[in-house]
Formats: sequence, structure tokens, C-alpha cells
Amino acid sequence: MSSFKFDESHWKLIYDQFIPEEEGLREALCTLANGYFGTRGAQPEARESEIHYPGTYVAGLYNRLKTPIAGRVVENEDFVNCPNWLYTTFRVDDGPWFLPSDNSNFQLLEFRQELDMRRGVLYRFIRVKDKEGRITRVETERIVSMADPHLGVLRYAVTPENYKGKITIRTDLDGTVRNWGVPRYRQLKNRHWVPLFLSTFDDNGILLAMKTNQSKIKIVEAAKVIPFVDGKESKCKPHFWHEKKRVVGIDYTFRAKQNKTYEIHKIVSIYTSKDLLKGDVEDEAIKTARSVKTYWKALEEHEKAWEEIWKKVDLHVEGDDYSDFALRFHIFHVLQTASPHTPKFDVGFPARGLHGEAYRGHIFWDTVYVMPFYVLYFPEIAKGLIMYRYRRLPAARKYAKQYGYKGAMFPWQSGSTGREETQELHLNPLSGKWGPDYSRYQRHVSLAIAYNTWLYWRYTKDWEFMRNYGAELMLSIAQFFGSLVKFDPSDGRYHTEKVMGPDEFHEKYPGSDQPGLKDNAYTNIMIVWLMLRALELWNSLDDYTKRKLKTKLRLTEKELKLWEDITYKMKVPMNEDWIIEQFEGYFNLKEIDWDYYRKKYGNIQRMDRILKAEGKDPDEYKVTKQADVLMTFYLLPLDEVESIFKRLGYNPPVPMKEILERNYDYYIKRTSHGSTLSRVVHAYIALLIDRKEEAWELYKDSLRSDLEDIQGGTTREGIHAGLMGGTIVVAIKGFAGMDLKDRILELKPELPHVWNWMSLNVPLKDE
Ligand code: BGC
Repeated sequence: MSSFKFDESHWKLIYDQFIPEEEGLREALCTLANGYFGTRGAQPEARESEIHYPGTYVAGLYNRLKTPIAGRVVENEDFVNCPNWLYTTFRVDDGPWFLPSDNSNFQLLEFRQELDMRRGVLYRFIRVKDKEGRITRVETERIVSMADPHLGVLRYAVTPENYKGKITIRTDLDGTVRNWGVPRYRQLKNRHWVPLFLSTFDDNGILLAMKTNQSKIKIVEAAKVIPFVDGKESKCKPHFWHEKKRVVGIDYTFRAKQNKTYEIHKIVSIYTSKDLLKGDVEDEAIKTARSVKTYWKALEEHEKAWEEIWKKVDLHVEGDDYSDFALRFHIFHVLQTASPHTPKFDVGFPARGLHGEAYRGHIFWDTVYVMPFYVLYFPEIAKGLIMYRYRRLPAARKYAKQYGYKGAMFPWQSGSTGREETQELHLNPLSGKWGPDYSRYQRHVSLAIAYNTWLYWRYTKDWEFMRNYGAELMLSIAQFFGSLVKFDPSDGRYHTEKVMGPDEFHEKYPGSDQPGLKDNAYTNIMIVWLMLRALELWNSLDDYTKRKLKTKLRLTEKELKLWEDITYKMKVPMNEDWIIEQFEGYFNLKEIDWDYYRKKYGNIQRMDRILKAEGKDPDEYKVTKQADVLMTFYLLPLDEVESIFKRLGYNPPVPMKEILERNYDYYIKRTSHGSTLSRVVHAYIALLIDRKEEAWELYKDSLRSDLEDIQGGTTREGIHAGLMGGTIVVAIKGFAGMDLKDRILELKPELPHVWNWMSLNVPLKDE
């Protein structure tokens, strides 16, 4: 549970108590980011502890470490926790340094923390009493600049309320950090940084330079720290200090008078050797820190940048305040994860934002959930995210080859180089056991990449992109699937094997030691969709581009014929009632007693872990983690799925909507929603089959998902960016029923009964 409030304008997330048990969640939810780097909403006074976890992540900054575990050596590429630039605190005389969670020394009389999404500001106000009865007001706010992606600024102000004395404000850049944010990963190696050097600059600057120990990425953080008394710059002299080559700090000691405010502005810049810089990393960092005069100046630019963003996406609902607030909250975090700065860097859309270490900052298929939003409002960001994949085509080709396929097979989890980053062993926190992880067999990730590419092109008609990059991407993926399918003369159909659908509870057949399944229906149908699009695209390309691609991809006429043939003969397993079988053999699996498990465990979202901890194998049961068959209908319009079926010679005996209804009823009963991506898809499908009430119930839970951490502990490790994107997209394409096809705007609103009004921008492009 989470004890947040929001204000009347629905722009602010508010907490009015400090609750240690909730702090991890709040840190994730109050993260500030700008697409380049993100910093968790940790208390500035905190270092890593059981309660606090300050974390800063630079998009695309990874490092690999090897750990011996369960009798083998596993290698993981981590999303590196960067030196903590926040740390700032104070003390009175020689008393203890202030920390809000230190209740043996401090009593919090007032606490208020506000995330203002309109301005992208995290604000906190505290009144604190120490053991001597001295009361201090502490006000702090900060930004991660949307105007300059390398800039973060913190303002920290203390006011003695009932005393005078010596007040020292201490601030530093702390490179002692490690990756400790996800308890499940703690048995793995987690020290990524080697110190390079630390120094001071000008009369109030500190600088810390470090390097990752495997990827050899250099990071430089530079901070200019300016003291103020009652809002006026002060002549107070800094005292510099450093520790173990990893921490460099400044103390300002003031002879404080009652009710006067002593304050610092900490102007921090972060650069890495990965950035495409003209100059040197240190020089750039110092230059940026120097260029900003005060917190207020940086804030002004930052607010302007956010204002521009909000102008483009003003999605607003009336009737249900929670929905209005939560949607805004989701838009805010999605845009912090991939922002207008993203295309300047070679980065993708990490599944858990720049908000934590879960899934190691990796890029999955989740981008497919957010793509329609970016395509509509920020096509440049959409293109940037696709380009992250394009640049990794050589790695995807290598990966395909390694498995004996042609074309490009993208990894299930992608990080720096585009090689497969999915771990081979996975810890079940319920049983404490390490087991094999076959989730990499989700070949459908490449379909999602093709889908995103096509979606971007369909809306923008950006032919230049398509000719230079998009076509190569889509055709290479088509080549891969063309080589993955196998024709079986006995039934005259193409089949897939060694694949997994989005439902990660089924990785293989019961008792088998071979990973993967046969004929995952979602994968197979999407392959047909891909082949159709690839052929359509091929036919619309100019001769020059065709020649170029034919040579580069070694694309043959035979292949093109094969693709065409696949569109007529792909296998889609189903029973006589037209329940599509999730994969060949799913219908033979055992049912589980859902009521029994619900009663016994309460939260059964992660049925896989529960079953494994009971010594059972989820592969044996009809228990599905998330939308799998139904995902088809989430991505493709009903009439398109129908025409695919007909083309394949499966002629629906009843209207497609009825078929969808049957499949929805069949699968939702067997789905535990173990991924946050599940409910939002089901909500959309429920809407398609006119189950408005049910759609709303599922959607409502999706809106609560991160704000209230309904999975019970996962959000603190990072927001679920795909889910957030999904809720925005379902509001637009589901509830507002909006589509922009060939420049024709279509609207078919079906608002939930509690929304009486909804407004959204329709971005119209110039001819
Ligand atoms: C889901 C995947 C998703 C991944 C990253 C998993 O729990 O099952 O579909 O891609 O999380 O968000």
C-alpha cells in the first residue's frame, strides 16, 4: 500500500508523512529524469541503507560482471548505479548529521514531499527537532534538467527556528555506490566503479571522475556549490574534503541566527565518455556547472522545456480524479524515460525506466506498449528508439547465425551492444533456488521491433527513414522468421518451434529438457502479419533501394516467394470452438484450482514462483502470466486478424468479435496477471467485446499498479514503463477510440462510466 495524495490540480504527488517502509517505493515514484539520466527521489541526506536507496542511472550506461553461482559462472550486464550527486545534509554545532529516518536523534514535526509534474520539481519540507529541543526548518528542491540533459540542480535550505548556533551544510559527490537496489541480485557481483581522480575547481567546485571496470566508461560529475544567506549569495568559505579517492565534498559552516535561512545551490553536471562530445569529458562537465548561476536560473529553463512537452500532450479526463492524476503521472514518467533528448544518444526504452535496477535497465519488447504514444506526439523520439535497434542489426544478424537462422534475430534483453543479455539462471525468491531461465526464447521480440518500425512509418510516412533504415530492419526480421518456420508436408503448413510467447510461465514442454514450444499462436499470426507488411513494403520500394537491399541482405526471389507462401500456410493451432491454442499442446495441460491458491496465498500474480516453491512445474499447468493469444488482438485490428485467418484458410464460422469473446473468456480465467503488462491488454480487449465494466475494472488496476505497487514490492526497483505507456495508449486508442489512418481522424469514444469527459490533443502534421 502507498499513502500518497494528489492535489486539486492533479499535477502534484504528495506525501505528508515519512514512512520508512514505503521509502523505496516513493524513491522510485519520485524519480526525476530527462531521458539522459535519472535520479531516484531519495532523501538527499541518505546513503544506501535498509531504508534508503539513492540511485542515479545514465541511459545506456552498462557494465558486465561475472559471478560464480550455483556451480557455474554467470555474467550479467548491469545498469550501473552512478556516483550519488545528491548527498547533502546539515548539523548544528558538532551534533549528528541530519537524516530523516534517524529517529534516535531527530523527531520529525512536519514532513511534506511533493513531486510537481508540471514543472518536473521534487520538493520537500521538514520541521525537525533534535535532542536538545532545537527546531530546524529544512527545505529542499531539485530538478533533473529537461533543458540541458547533463544538468541536475539541488537547493538545500535550513532555518533555525528557535536557536542560534553553528550550522554546517555538507554536500558531496559519492562514488562509494554499488548496485544494491534489487534484493534478488545481491548474491551477484555489484561493484562497478574504479576511481580515477577527484579534484576541486574554482573556489566552490568539486569534481569526481570514475570508470566502469569492464565497459571502461568514464564518468565525470562536477558540482558547483554556492552558499546563500536569506537568498543572497554569501561569502562563507568552503571547506573541501575527500575520502578514499571516491568521495569529494564541501562543507559550509555558518554562524547561524534564529529565523535566518542558510542555503546552498548545488549545480551538478554529468558527462560520460559515451556521449558524443566535441571536447573533453572533464572540461564539458566543468563548463556546464560553471554556466549556471543559481538553482532558480536552471529551474526557469527546465520549466520552459516541460511546458513545451505538456503543450503537446495534454490528456485530461474529468469525472474520476484518480484517473486524471494517474494518467498524467504515467505520461510524466514515460517522458522522463525517453525524452526529446533521447534521439541524441544511442539508447532504447528501458522496461523499468531510469528509475531503478530491476531488469538491469535492459530493453525488452515493452517499447511496443508505448510506441503509439510516441509516434503520435513525439515521432522523433519514436524514431530514436527504433534507431537504437537499427544500430544493433549486426549483433542481431550474428545472433541469428549462431542459432542457424538467417536475417536478424534480436535478443530478448538488449543492453549496450545488442547481444543477448538475458540471464541464464534466475533466482526464485520464494524458494531461494536458482533455476534455468529460458525466457530468451521469446523470439517475438523481433516482431515487436518490426511492428514499431511499421507503426512509425504508417503515421509519419517518413520515406527517407524507411528507405535508409526501416526497410532494412523489417526485411532482415522477415528473413529471420522466414528461416525460423518449417514446412511440414504432412499437414501442408508452416510451423515454428523452440519459441516462447509472451507468457513466461511456459518455457518448455513438461518433463522436457529442451527449451521452447511449438507453434505459439501469437508468434505465428504475427509472422503472417510481418510477411504481408514486408512484401507490401518491398513492392513499394524504388528500384535503387531494392537493389541495394538485395545485395546487402542477400535477399533472394526464392525468399520473397517463401514469405508469400507463409502468408497462406502458417499454422494457427485452435480447437473446433475456435479457441486459439496458446501453443501446440497447451490444451493438454492440467488445470489448477484457482480458488484454492487464491485462498492460500492471497496474491497469486506470480503463480509460477508459487508452483515452483511447492515443487511443481508451471509448464504442466494451464496458468498464464499475461496476455499471449490475446496480444494479437491488442496489436492488430479485428478485421485484420480476420483477413489473416481467411487467407490461411481458417474461415471463422461466427463473427470475429464472438471468437475474440470466446478466447477472452477462456484465457482470462487462466491468467494470473503476473506481469503489469497483462491487465492493460485485457482491459483493451474487454472494451473491444463491449464489456465496459470489466474493461474499467482491469484498467483501474493498471492505473493503480505502480502508484500503489499492487505487485507488492516490485515498483521500488523501478517503475513499469511499458505498463505506463499501455495505460496512456488504451486511453487514446481504447476509450477515446482514436486512430489516425492516412491522415483521416477517427474517433469512437467509449468512456468508462466514471469519466464524463476526456480531452486530448490531436497532433496534425503539415502536408
Ligand atoms: C514480462 C515481459 C516484460 C518484462 C519487462 C516481464 O515480467 O513478462 O513481458 O517484457 O517483464 O518488463
